[in-house]
Amino acid sequence: MPGRRCVFLDRDGTIVAYVPYLRAVADVRLLPGAAAGIRRLRAAGWLCCLVSNQGGVARGLLSEDDVRAVNARMCELLGAEGATLDDMRFCPHHPLGAIPAHRIHCECRKPGTALVRELAAAHDIDLQRSYFVGDSAVDVECGRRAGCSVLLLANKRLLDPPAGVRLVPDLEAAAKRILAATGGGAPGSCVRPYGLQGAREKLSPGAGAETVVGG
Ligand SMILES: [Mg+2]
Ligand SMILES: [Zn+2]
Repeated sequence: MPGRRCVFLDRDGTIVAYVPYLRAVADVRLLPGAAAGIRRLRAAGWLCCLVSNQGGVARGLLSEDDVRAVNARMCELLGAEGATLDDMRFCPHHPLGAIPAHRIHCECRKPGTALVRELAAAHDIDLQRSYFVGDSAVDVECGRRAGCSVLLLANKRLLDPPAGVRLVPDLEAAAKRILAATGGGAPGSCVRPYGLQGAREKLSPGAGAETVVGG
């Protein structure tokens, strides 16, 4: 049996509105299309897992409990719109951090792939058939290093988009594109044996197809 399909999602600027070093739960706002995109993907049998850099923890600007509180508020807002995340991981480290315990070069800070690989192991995820969706170059790089296809949310902070990546306006557009590119949204498609679905995918450029066309 092939592993499951997952869309790895960045948090800040992807699911919630970008706020530098987001710490106050009152500042948590869902971006347009975030809940709808996650709903669509999960309805089609995809896992949705959050992978977030929270270097503000290493910098002493927020605590891990602050990160968890913001994540909980995000999940509450998503839940109110019928959307759920399957799992969440964040990296509290930064090589230039002020907190000695977190001032390290780690493998979990994106574009490092440790968190993606942890999630893949925990949920039997097939990375070659999965996606990473984020709003920054490190999300793209992380997804590519992990062997996933990637999509990038267009935004004003993105001054120099990585070459060859497809831009989408929001998470719902990303979800529609992913489902269209992978043969639609039949519930349970993620656990279908390779057979027919695999053959169909071979007709398209396959893994990485989403990274080929410029925005
Ligand atoms: Mg981001
Ligand atoms: Zn880390």
